[in-house]
Amino acid sequence: MTGTVFLVGAGPGDPGLLTLRGADALRQADVVVHDRLVGEEILDMAPLWAERIDAGKAPGRCPIGQDEINSILVDRARAGLTVVRLKGGDPFVFGRGGEEALALLEADVPFEIVPGVTSAVAAPAAAGIPLTHRGLSGGFTVLTARLAGGSNNDLRRSATASDTIVVLMAAGALDLACAELIAGGRASDDPAAVVSSATTAGQRSVVSTLAELPAAAAAAGIRAPATLVVGPVVRLAVSIGTPARRAADQSVAAPS
Ligand code: SAH
Repeated sequence: MTGTVFLVGAGPGDPGLLTLRGADALRQADVVVHDRLVGEEILDMAPLWAERIDAGKAPGRCPIGQDEINSILVDRARAGLTVVRLKGGDPFVFGRGGEEALALLEADVPFEIVPGVTSAVAAPAAAGIPLTHRGLSGGFTVLTARLAGGSNNDLRRSATASDTIVVLMAAGALDLACAELIAGGRASDDPAAVVSSATTAGQRSVVSTLAELPAAAAAAGIRAPATLVVGPVVRLAVSIGTPARRAADQSVAAPS
């Protein structure tokens, strides 16, 4: 009998932010196909004997291609195994979960989608930034800085789409992302923050203005994975970010 594939969101990093359903799927897994960003503590919820496939990096090779990942999911399920495809955050937010679901449908393999806590929401929240706030933000837009194939997304087009803009995959080209948002109509003194490794022991955030954030983040040594947040709600990080987090977090001076 064909096994089931669970497309599971592992959350932003802290194992406590994996859903109960996600943990349950992991405990039943014969095979876990995981991304680079998923931590050991979560992977260890699978049985000791479960096969682990790192889709981010095969031994001595570059990352496994999407077609190969799809075939692994289909082949293992057809062999009667329970497969967990584990992705950082939510599987359907820049996670190619949709592509995998379509491949499974096509192959007639049963699957279940287990949503996860996306870093688009969790990274700002962990730094004390509410994405909506009465009087400050009536909504948020989530964008990627990079499109498939490595080209840059057109951030100008969506720069003023909402009061709050969240940009994922921006750490490698923060200066370009901020410049594009300014070119698209955001004020250069709009409050902006970058939060890296959110909800893990290595969480750091830098709060500044859109124009000054890239230099401040570079000076603070911010690295991927990091999430950029822009808009008036960023000012709240200074008061809402918990003192413990702030102490660990090396926040740079907030804009007035
Ligand atoms: N499916 C994932 C996103 C995958 S794209 C989700 O829903 O969260 C990877 C991007 O997510 C990174 O480049 C970064 O922008 C963001 N990201 C993932 N984990 C993060 C973390 N712990 N802290 C901050 N940003 C994170």
